[in-house]
Amino acid sequence: MDDDLGALPPKEDFSGWYNELLWRAEIMDVRYPVKGLYVWYPFGFALRRNVYGELRALLDVDHAETLFPLLIPETELAKEGEHIKGFEDEVYWVTHGGLSPLEVKLALRPTSECAIYPMYHLWVRSHADLPLRVYQIVNTFRYETKHTRPLIRLREITSFKEAHTVHATWEDAEAQVHAALALYRQFYATLCVPVIVSKRPDWDKFPGADYTIAVDTIMPDGRTLQIGTVHHLGDHFSKTFAITYEDVDGEQQFAQQTCYGISERCIAALISMHGDEKGLVLPPAVAPVQVVIVPITIGKRKEEVLVAARVIEEELAAAGLRVKVDRRDLRPGAKYYYWEMRGVPLRLEVGPRDLDAGQVTAVTRLGDKSTVPRASLRFGVADLLARFTGTLTRRGEEHLLSHARVVDTMEELSVAIEKGVAIVPWCGERTCADFIEETVNASVLGTEVQAGFSCAGGSACISCGKPGTGALVGRSY
Ligand code: ZN
Repeated sequence: MDDDLGALPPKEDFSGWYNELLWRAEIMDVRYPVKGLYVWYPFGFALRRNVYGELRALLDVDHAETLFPLLIPETELAKEGEHIKGFEDEVYWVTHGGLSPLEVKLALRPTSECAIYPMYHLWVRSHADLPLRVYQIVNTFRYETKHTRPLIRLREITSFKEAHTVHATWEDAEAQVHAALALYRQFYATLCVPVIVSKRPDWDKFPGADYTIAVDTIMPDGRTLQIGTVHHLGDHFSKTFAITYEDVDGEQQFAQQTCYGISERCIAALISMHGDEKGLVLPPAVAPVQVVIVPITIGKRKEEVLVAARVIEEELAAAGLRVKVDRRDLRPGAKYYYWEMRGVPLRLEVGPRDLDAGQVTAVTRLGDKSTVPRASLRFGVADLLARFTGTLTRRGEEHLLSHARVVDTMEELSVAIEKGVAIVPWCGERTCADFIEETVNASVLGTEVQAGFSCAGGSACISCGKPGTGALVGRSY
Protein backbone atom coordinates (compact mmCIF):
# COMPACT_ATOMS: atom_id res chain seq x y z
CA MET A 1 0.00 0.00 0.00
CA ASP A 2 3.02 2.30 -0.20
CA ASP A 3 2.54 2.99 -3.86
CA ASP A 4 1.26 6.43 -4.65
CA LEU A 5 -2.12 5.77 -6.23
CA GLY A 6 -2.89 9.46 -6.51
CA ALA A 7 -5.94 11.23 -5.17
CA LEU A 8 -9.23 9.58 -4.31
CA PRO A 9 -12.25 10.14 -6.56
CA PRO A 10 -13.75 13.61 -5.94
CA LYS A 11 -15.99 13.75 -2.87
CA GLU A 12 -18.85 14.90 -5.12
CA ASP A 13 -18.91 11.26 -6.27
CA PHE A 14 -19.65 10.28 -2.69
CA SER A 15 -20.13 6.53 -3.18
CA GLY A 16 -16.99 6.18 -5.26
CA TRP A 17 -14.99 8.28 -2.80
CA TYR A 18 -16.32 6.41 0.25
CA ASN A 19 -15.73 2.91 -1.11
CA GLU A 20 -12.20 3.65 -2.24
CA LEU A 21 -11.30 5.46 0.99
CA LEU A 22 -12.40 2.50 3.13
CA TRP A 23 -9.78 0.19 1.67
CA ARG A 24 -7.05 2.67 0.89
CA ALA A 25 -7.12 4.01 4.46
CA GLU A 26 -7.44 0.41 5.72
CA ILE A 27 -10.74 0.82 7.55
CA MET A 28 -12.86 -2.06 6.19
CA ASP A 29 -12.15 -4.97 3.88
CA VAL A 30 -15.22 -5.74 1.78
CA ARG A 31 -13.94 -9.04 0.36
CA TYR A 32 -15.40 -11.35 3.03
CA PRO A 33 -17.44 -14.01 1.20
CA VAL A 34 -20.84 -13.26 2.80
CA LYS A 35 -22.95 -10.36 1.52
CA GLY A 36 -23.36 -7.55 4.05
CA LEU A 37 -20.54 -8.76 6.33
CA TYR A 38 -17.29 -6.79 6.38
CA VAL A 39 -13.94 -7.09 8.12
CA TRP A 40 -12.19 -4.43 10.20
CA TYR A 41 -8.59 -3.88 9.17
CA PRO A 42 -6.37 -3.40 12.26
CA PHE A 43 -6.10 0.35 11.55
CA GLY A 44 -9.89 0.65 11.27
CA PHE A 45 -10.25 -1.35 14.44
CA ALA A 46 -7.85 0.99 16.27
CA LEU A 47 -10.09 3.89 15.21
CA ARG A 48 -13.14 1.92 16.38
CA ARG A 49 -11.50 1.28 19.75
CA ASN A 50 -10.84 4.99 20.29
CA VAL A 51 -14.34 6.04 19.17
CA TYR A 52 -16.05 3.49 21.40
CA GLY A 53 -13.63 4.37 24.21
CA GLU A 54 -15.10 7.90 24.14
CA LEU A 55 -18.63 6.48 24.20
CA ARG A 56 -17.78 4.09 27.05
CA ALA A 57 -16.24 6.90 29.11
CA LEU A 58 -19.47 8.89 28.83
CA LEU A 59 -21.69 5.92 29.66
CA ASP A 60 -19.58 4.60 32.51
CA VAL A 61 -20.39 7.67 34.61
CA ASP A 62 -23.79 6.22 35.56
CA HIS A 63 -24.32 3.04 33.47
CA ALA A 64 -22.89 -0.43 34.06
CA GLU A 65 -21.47 -2.42 31.14
CA THR A 66 -22.60 -6.01 30.68
CA LEU A 67 -22.90 -8.78 28.09
CA PHE A 68 -25.98 -10.81 27.18
CA PRO A 69 -26.19 -13.89 24.93
CA LEU A 70 -26.38 -13.62 21.15
CA LEU A 71 -29.15 -16.23 20.87
CA ILE A 72 -32.76 -15.43 21.79
CA PRO A 73 -35.40 -18.18 22.01
CA GLU A 74 -38.32 -17.74 19.62
CA THR A 75 -40.67 -17.96 22.62
CA GLU A 76 -39.16 -14.77 24.13
CA LEU A 77 -38.87 -12.91 20.84
CA ALA A 78 -42.52 -13.61 20.01
CA LYS A 79 -43.83 -12.27 23.34
CA GLU A 80 -44.09 -8.61 22.36
CA GLY A 81 -46.37 -8.61 19.31
CA GLU A 82 -45.58 -5.13 17.93
CA HIS A 83 -41.86 -5.61 18.46
CA ILE A 84 -41.56 -8.95 16.65
CA LYS A 85 -43.72 -7.63 13.82
CA GLY A 86 -41.20 -4.84 13.34
CA PHE A 87 -38.34 -7.29 12.92
CA GLU A 88 -39.85 -10.50 11.51
CA ASP A 89 -38.55 -9.94 7.96
CA GLU A 90 -35.01 -9.40 9.21
CA VAL A 91 -34.32 -12.15 11.74
CA TYR A 92 -31.71 -14.86 11.18
CA TRP A 93 -32.72 -18.16 12.78
CA VAL A 94 -30.66 -21.00 14.22
CA THR A 95 -32.77 -24.07 13.59
CA HIS A 96 -30.34 -26.95 14.21
CA GLY A 97 -27.86 -28.09 16.85
CA GLY A 98 -25.55 -30.21 14.75
CA LEU A 99 -27.90 -32.41 12.74
CA SER A 100 -30.80 -32.31 15.21
CA PRO A 101 -33.58 -29.79 14.71
CA LEU A 102 -33.99 -27.57 17.79
CA GLU A 103 -37.25 -27.77 19.73
CA VAL A 104 -37.30 -23.98 20.07
CA LYS A 105 -35.71 -22.01 17.25
CA LEU A 106 -33.09 -19.45 18.33
CA ALA A 107 -32.82 -15.98 16.80
CA LEU A 108 -29.53 -14.16 16.30
CA ARG A 109 -30.35 -10.94 18.17
CA PRO A 110 -31.61 -8.20 15.84
CA THR A 111 -31.54 -6.06 19.04
CA SER A 112 -31.56 -7.26 22.64
CA GLU A 113 -34.83 -6.27 24.34
CA CYS A 114 -36.04 -9.87 24.33
CA ALA A 115 -32.69 -11.16 25.64
CA ILE A 116 -32.37 -8.61 28.43
CA TYR A 117 -35.92 -8.12 29.69
CA PRO A 118 -36.60 -11.69 30.86
CA MET A 119 -33.57 -11.17 33.12
CA TYR A 120 -34.80 -7.74 34.24
CA HIS A 121 -37.94 -9.61 35.36
CA LEU A 122 -35.65 -11.46 37.80
CA TRP A 123 -33.37 -8.55 38.70
CA VAL A 124 -35.89 -5.81 39.46
CA ARG A 125 -37.64 -6.33 42.82
CA SER A 126 -38.04 -3.06 44.65
CA HIS A 127 -38.02 0.70 44.04
CA ALA A 128 -34.57 0.58 45.67
CA ASP A 129 -33.29 -1.32 42.56
CA LEU A 130 -34.24 1.65 40.36
CA PRO A 131 -33.08 3.32 38.24
CA LEU A 132 -31.23 0.47 36.56
CA ARG A 133 -28.91 1.53 33.72
CA VAL A 134 -27.07 -1.12 31.76
CA TYR A 135 -25.38 -1.17 28.36
CA GLN A 136 -23.49 -3.55 26.10
CA ILE A 137 -21.46 -3.21 22.89
CA VAL A 138 -22.21 -6.23 20.72
CA ASN A 139 -22.85 -7.51 17.24
CA THR A 140 -26.44 -7.82 16.02
CA PHE A 141 -27.79 -9.40 12.87
CA ARG A 142 -30.41 -8.20 10.41
CA TYR A 143 -31.25 -9.79 7.10
CA GLU A 144 -31.10 -6.58 5.08
CA THR A 145 -32.71 -6.84 1.67
CA LYS A 146 -31.70 -3.32 0.63
CA HIS A 147 -28.32 -2.61 -0.94
CA THR A 148 -25.70 -3.20 1.78
CA ARG A 149 -22.85 -0.74 2.39
CA PRO A 150 -19.88 -0.96 4.80
CA LEU A 151 -20.51 0.73 8.18
CA ILE A 152 -23.90 1.99 6.99
CA ARG A 153 -26.22 -0.86 6.02
CA LEU A 154 -25.06 -4.25 7.24
CA ARG A 155 -26.26 -7.75 7.86
CA GLU A 156 -23.92 -8.03 10.83
CA ILE A 157 -23.80 -4.78 12.79
CA THR A 158 -20.48 -5.39 14.54
CA SER A 159 -20.53 -2.56 17.06
CA PHE A 160 -24.01 -1.92 18.43
CA LYS A 161 -23.91 0.01 21.70
CA GLU A 162 -27.32 -0.57 23.25
CA ALA A 163 -28.36 0.82 26.63
CA HIS A 164 -31.44 -0.42 28.49
CA THR A 165 -32.77 1.43 31.53
CA VAL A 166 -35.57 0.78 34.03
CA HIS A 167 -37.34 3.47 36.06
CA ALA A 168 -40.14 3.84 38.57
CA THR A 169 -42.23 6.41 36.69
CA TRP A 170 -42.91 7.50 33.11
CA GLU A 171 -41.46 10.93 33.97
CA ASP A 172 -38.25 9.38 35.28
CA ALA A 173 -37.92 7.45 32.02
CA GLU A 174 -38.53 10.64 30.06
CA ALA A 175 -35.76 12.38 32.03
CA GLN A 176 -33.49 9.47 30.99
CA VAL A 177 -34.42 10.06 27.33
CA HIS A 178 -33.18 13.64 27.69
CA ALA A 179 -30.05 12.52 29.54
CA ALA A 180 -29.30 10.02 26.76
CA LEU A 181 -29.72 12.70 24.10
CA ALA A 182 -27.37 15.01 26.00
CA LEU A 183 -24.85 12.17 26.18
CA TYR A 184 -25.13 11.53 22.44
CA ARG A 185 -24.66 15.21 21.67
CA GLN A 186 -21.51 15.22 23.77
CA PHE A 187 -20.24 12.08 22.03
CA TYR A 188 -20.77 13.56 18.56
CA ALA A 189 -19.17 16.85 19.68
CA THR A 190 -16.04 14.80 20.46
CA LEU A 191 -16.15 13.45 16.90
CA CYS A 192 -16.80 17.01 15.57
CA VAL A 193 -19.90 15.61 13.82
CA PRO A 194 -22.86 18.05 13.82
CA VAL A 195 -26.27 16.50 14.49
CA ILE A 196 -29.97 17.21 14.05
CA VAL A 197 -32.27 15.81 16.72
CA SER A 198 -35.95 15.17 15.96
CA LYS A 199 -38.92 13.11 17.08
CA ARG A 200 -39.75 10.42 14.53
CA PRO A 201 -43.32 10.30 13.24
CA ASP A 202 -45.47 7.72 15.00
CA TRP A 203 -45.33 5.27 12.09
CA ASP A 204 -41.55 5.38 12.08
CA LYS A 205 -40.93 4.83 15.80
CA PHE A 206 -39.19 1.77 17.27
CA PRO A 207 -41.56 -1.21 17.33
CA GLY A 208 -43.04 -1.27 20.85
CA ALA A 209 -41.98 2.25 21.90
CA ASP A 210 -44.11 5.15 23.15
CA TYR A 211 -41.96 7.43 21.01
CA THR A 212 -38.55 7.59 19.33
CA ILE A 213 -36.14 10.51 19.14
CA ALA A 214 -33.48 10.22 16.47
CA VAL A 215 -30.10 11.79 15.91
CA ASP A 216 -29.24 12.39 12.25
CA THR A 217 -26.36 13.98 10.44
CA ILE A 218 -26.10 15.19 6.85
CA MET A 219 -23.70 13.29 4.62
CA PRO A 220 -21.57 15.00 1.93
CA ASP A 221 -24.18 14.22 -0.74
CA GLY A 222 -26.94 15.91 1.28
CA ARG A 223 -28.63 12.67 2.35
CA THR A 224 -29.25 12.13 6.05
CA LEU A 225 -27.75 9.30 8.09
CA GLN A 226 -29.46 8.20 11.30
CA ILE A 227 -26.61 7.84 13.79
CA GLY A 228 -28.44 7.30 17.06
CA THR A 229 -31.91 6.66 18.45
CA VAL A 230 -33.44 7.01 21.90
CA HIS A 231 -36.73 5.26 22.71
CA HIS A 232 -39.19 5.79 25.53
CA LEU A 233 -40.66 2.31 25.93
CA GLY A 234 -43.27 3.21 28.56
CA ASP A 235 -44.56 0.00 30.11
CA HIS A 236 -45.04 -1.99 26.84
CA PHE A 237 -42.19 -4.35 27.56
CA SER A 238 -42.54 -4.39 31.34
CA LYS A 239 -46.12 -5.64 30.92
CA THR A 240 -44.97 -8.29 28.42
CA PHE A 241 -42.02 -9.48 30.50
CA ALA A 242 -43.57 -8.81 33.92
CA ILE A 243 -40.93 -6.32 35.07
CA THR A 244 -42.50 -5.05 38.29
CA TYR A 245 -41.22 -3.46 41.47
CA GLU A 246 -42.60 -2.89 44.93
CA ASP A 247 -43.15 0.82 45.52
CA VAL A 248 -42.71 2.66 48.85
CA ASP A 249 -46.26 1.73 49.87
CA GLY A 250 -45.66 -1.96 49.26
CA GLU A 251 -47.72 -2.01 46.02
CA GLN A 252 -46.52 -3.84 42.87
CA GLN A 253 -46.03 -1.48 39.93
CA PHE A 254 -45.01 -1.99 36.31
CA ALA A 255 -41.63 -0.44 35.60
CA GLN A 256 -41.05 2.20 32.90
CA GLN A 257 -38.23 1.69 30.45
CA THR A 258 -36.01 3.31 27.84
CA CYS A 259 -33.45 2.00 25.41
CA TYR A 260 -31.01 3.79 23.12
CA GLY A 261 -28.44 2.75 20.57
CA ILE A 262 -25.53 3.80 18.42
CA SER A 263 -23.88 1.59 15.80
CA GLU A 264 -20.71 1.82 13.68
CA ARG A 265 -22.61 4.35 11.60
CA CYS A 266 -20.95 6.82 13.99
CA ILE A 267 -17.68 5.92 12.25
CA ALA A 268 -19.27 6.22 8.80
CA ALA A 269 -20.40 9.73 9.79
CA LEU A 270 -16.98 10.65 11.20
CA ILE A 271 -15.17 9.48 8.07
CA SER A 272 -17.63 11.07 5.65
CA MET A 273 -17.95 14.41 7.41
CA HIS A 274 -14.24 15.23 7.59
CA GLY A 275 -12.44 13.25 4.89
CA ASP A 276 -11.18 14.77 1.64
CA GLU A 277 -9.53 13.69 -1.59
CA LYS A 278 -6.28 12.93 0.22
CA GLY A 279 -8.01 10.51 2.60
CA LEU A 280 -9.24 10.49 6.17
CA VAL A 281 -9.20 13.58 8.36
CA LEU A 282 -9.51 12.48 11.98
CA PRO A 283 -10.23 14.49 15.12
CA PRO A 284 -7.30 14.17 17.55
CA ALA A 285 -9.59 12.68 20.23
CA VAL A 286 -9.99 9.45 18.23
CA ALA A 287 -7.10 9.36 15.72
CA PRO A 288 -5.08 6.12 16.16
CA VAL A 289 -1.97 8.20 15.45
CA GLN A 290 -2.28 11.84 16.55
CA VAL A 291 1.20 13.00 15.62
CA VAL A 292 3.56 11.48 13.06
CA ILE A 293 7.20 12.54 13.00
CA VAL A 294 8.94 12.40 9.64
CA PRO A 295 12.74 12.68 9.89
CA ILE A 296 14.25 14.51 6.92
CA THR A 297 17.48 12.53 6.63
CA ILE A 298 19.07 13.92 3.51
CA GLY A 299 22.82 14.40 3.75
CA LYS A 300 25.38 13.60 6.39
CA ARG A 301 23.43 14.40 9.55
CA LYS A 302 21.11 11.37 9.36
CA GLU A 303 22.02 9.92 12.78
CA GLU A 304 21.64 13.26 14.50
CA VAL A 305 18.19 13.76 12.96
CA LEU A 306 17.02 10.26 13.89
CA VAL A 307 18.12 10.75 17.49
CA ALA A 308 16.29 14.10 17.66
CA ALA A 309 13.14 12.46 16.24
CA ARG A 310 13.30 9.70 18.84
CA VAL A 311 13.68 12.17 21.69
CA ILE A 312 10.66 14.13 20.44
CA GLU A 313 8.65 10.91 20.17
CA GLU A 314 9.47 9.97 23.78
CA GLU A 315 8.68 13.44 25.02
CA LEU A 316 5.26 13.56 23.31
CA ALA A 317 4.40 9.98 24.29
CA ALA A 318 5.21 10.84 27.90
CA ALA A 319 2.72 13.70 27.59
CA GLY A 320 0.05 11.13 26.69
CA LEU A 321 -0.03 11.59 22.91
CA ARG A 322 -0.32 8.78 20.37
CA VAL A 323 2.84 9.51 18.39
CA LYS A 324 4.93 7.62 15.86
CA VAL A 325 8.24 8.21 14.05
CA ASP A 326 8.12 6.99 10.45
CA ARG A 327 11.58 5.45 10.06
CA ARG A 328 10.83 3.60 6.84
CA ASP A 329 13.26 3.89 3.98
CA LEU A 330 10.92 5.96 1.81
CA ARG A 331 11.15 9.48 0.43
CA PRO A 332 9.38 12.04 2.69
CA GLY A 333 6.66 12.70 0.07
CA ALA A 334 5.59 9.03 0.14
CA LYS A 335 5.38 9.18 3.92
CA TYR A 336 3.28 12.36 3.82
CA TYR A 337 0.90 10.70 1.40
CA TYR A 338 0.64 7.54 3.52
CA TRP A 339 -0.21 9.38 6.76
CA GLU A 340 -2.52 11.86 5.08
CA MET A 341 -4.57 8.91 3.78
CA ARG A 342 -4.83 7.68 7.39
CA GLY A 343 -6.01 11.04 8.69
CA VAL A 344 -3.19 11.85 11.12
CA PRO A 345 -4.03 15.34 12.48
CA LEU A 346 -0.45 16.62 12.79
CA ARG A 347 2.84 15.89 11.04
CA LEU A 348 6.13 17.08 12.46
CA GLU A 349 9.10 17.34 10.12
CA VAL A 350 12.55 17.28 11.67
CA GLY A 351 15.57 18.01 9.45
CA PRO A 352 19.07 19.46 9.86
CA ARG A 353 17.79 22.96 9.24
CA ASP A 354 15.15 22.58 11.99
CA LEU A 355 17.81 21.33 14.41
CA ASP A 356 20.00 24.36 13.69
CA ALA A 357 17.08 26.75 14.15
CA GLY A 358 15.91 25.08 17.38
CA GLN A 359 12.49 24.37 15.94
CA VAL A 360 10.23 21.73 14.43
CA THR A 361 8.13 22.19 11.29
CA ALA A 362 4.47 21.32 11.88
CA VAL A 363 1.87 20.67 9.17
CA THR A 364 -1.76 19.90 10.01
CA ARG A 365 -3.77 17.37 8.00
CA LEU A 366 -5.54 20.36 6.44
CA GLY A 367 -2.21 21.75 5.21
CA ASP A 368 -1.59 24.57 7.70
CA LYS A 369 2.17 24.90 8.13
CA SER A 370 3.96 26.50 11.06
CA THR A 371 7.11 26.19 13.12
CA VAL A 372 7.12 25.32 16.79
CA PRO A 373 10.08 26.21 19.06
CA ARG A 374 11.77 23.00 20.15
CA ALA A 375 11.92 24.23 23.76
CA SER A 376 8.13 24.46 24.08
CA LEU A 377 7.20 21.62 21.72
CA ARG A 378 4.72 19.88 24.02
CA PHE A 379 2.63 22.99 24.47
CA GLY A 380 2.93 23.97 20.83
CA VAL A 381 1.68 20.56 19.71
CA ALA A 382 -1.19 20.54 22.23
CA ASP A 383 -2.23 23.96 21.01
CA LEU A 384 -2.14 22.94 17.33
CA LEU A 385 -4.23 19.82 18.06
CA ALA A 386 -6.82 21.81 20.01
CA ARG A 387 -7.09 24.33 17.17
CA PHE A 388 -7.39 21.49 14.66
CA THR A 389 -10.37 20.10 16.62
CA GLY A 390 -11.94 23.56 16.61
CA THR A 391 -11.49 23.82 12.85
CA LEU A 392 -13.18 20.44 12.26
CA THR A 393 -16.11 21.43 14.48
CA ARG A 394 -16.53 24.72 12.61
CA ARG A 395 -16.31 23.05 9.19
CA GLY A 396 -18.89 20.47 10.27
CA GLU A 397 -21.31 23.15 11.40
CA GLU A 398 -20.84 25.06 8.15
CA HIS A 399 -21.57 21.87 6.22
CA LEU A 400 -24.80 21.35 8.16
CA LEU A 401 -25.91 24.97 7.73
CA SER A 402 -25.23 24.97 4.01
CA HIS A 403 -27.30 21.82 3.52
CA ALA A 404 -30.40 22.83 5.51
CA ARG A 405 -33.15 25.28 4.49
CA VAL A 406 -36.30 26.51 6.21
CA VAL A 407 -39.01 26.71 3.51
CA ASP A 408 -42.78 27.03 3.40
CA THR A 409 -43.89 26.06 -0.08
CA MET A 410 -43.71 22.79 -2.00
CA GLU A 411 -41.74 24.51 -4.81
CA GLU A 412 -39.06 25.68 -2.38
CA LEU A 413 -39.00 22.25 -0.78
CA SER A 414 -38.38 20.58 -4.16
CA VAL A 415 -35.35 22.81 -4.69
CA ALA A 416 -34.00 22.52 -1.13
CA ILE A 417 -34.26 18.73 -1.06
CA GLU A 418 -31.84 18.40 -3.99
CA LYS A 419 -29.15 19.91 -1.78
CA GLY A 420 -29.93 18.54 1.65
CA VAL A 421 -32.70 18.74 4.22
CA ALA A 422 -35.53 21.18 4.73
CA ILE A 423 -37.77 22.23 7.59
CA VAL A 424 -41.37 22.67 6.44
CA PRO A 425 -44.61 23.35 8.30
CA TRP A 426 -46.66 20.15 8.60
CA CYS A 427 -49.98 19.51 10.36
CA GLY A 428 -49.03 16.09 11.69
CA GLU A 429 -51.46 14.10 9.51
CA ARG A 430 -50.19 10.96 7.81
CA THR A 431 -51.99 11.77 4.53
CA CYS A 432 -50.15 15.10 4.30
CA ALA A 433 -46.81 13.41 5.07
CA ASP A 434 -47.53 10.86 2.32
CA PHE A 435 -48.31 13.67 -0.11
CA ILE A 436 -45.10 15.55 0.79
CA GLU A 437 -43.04 12.36 0.50
CA GLU A 438 -44.47 11.44 -2.90
CA THR A 439 -44.17 14.96 -4.30
CA VAL A 440 -40.49 15.48 -3.47
CA ASN A 441 -39.34 11.83 -3.20
CA ALA A 442 -38.05 12.24 0.36
CA SER A 443 -39.13 11.33 3.89
CA VAL A 444 -40.75 13.27 6.71
CA LEU A 445 -38.07 12.41 9.26
CA GLY A 446 -39.31 14.11 12.39
CA THR A 447 -40.78 17.00 14.35
CA GLU A 448 -39.66 19.09 17.32
CA VAL A 449 -36.41 19.62 15.43
CA GLN A 450 -33.32 20.72 17.35
CA ALA A 451 -30.28 21.73 15.34
CA GLY A 452 -27.73 24.47 15.00
CA PHE A 453 -30.03 26.56 12.81
CA SER A 454 -33.41 28.24 13.12
CA CYS A 455 -36.25 25.75 12.80
CA ALA A 456 -39.02 28.32 12.74
CA GLY A 457 -40.88 28.60 9.45
CA GLY A 458 -44.37 29.52 8.33
CA SER A 459 -47.13 27.72 10.17
CA ALA A 460 -49.54 26.59 7.45
CA CYS A 461 -49.05 22.91 6.50
CA ILE A 462 -47.53 22.90 3.00
CA SER A 463 -49.90 20.14 2.01
CA CYS A 464 -53.34 21.09 3.43
CA GLY A 465 -52.88 24.63 4.79
CA LYS A 466 -54.05 23.77 8.30
CA PRO A 467 -51.90 24.93 11.25
CA GLY A 468 -48.60 23.04 11.38
CA THR A 469 -45.18 23.02 12.97
CA GLY A 470 -41.70 22.51 11.55
CA ALA A 471 -40.97 19.01 10.26
CA LEU A 472 -37.61 17.77 9.05
CA VAL A 473 -37.74 16.44 5.47
CA GLY A 474 -34.81 14.70 3.83
CA ARG A 475 -33.58 11.74 1.82
CA SER A 476 -31.99 9.25 4.11
CA TYR A 477 -29.54 6.37 3.87
ZN1 ZN B 1 -51.62 18.91 6.47
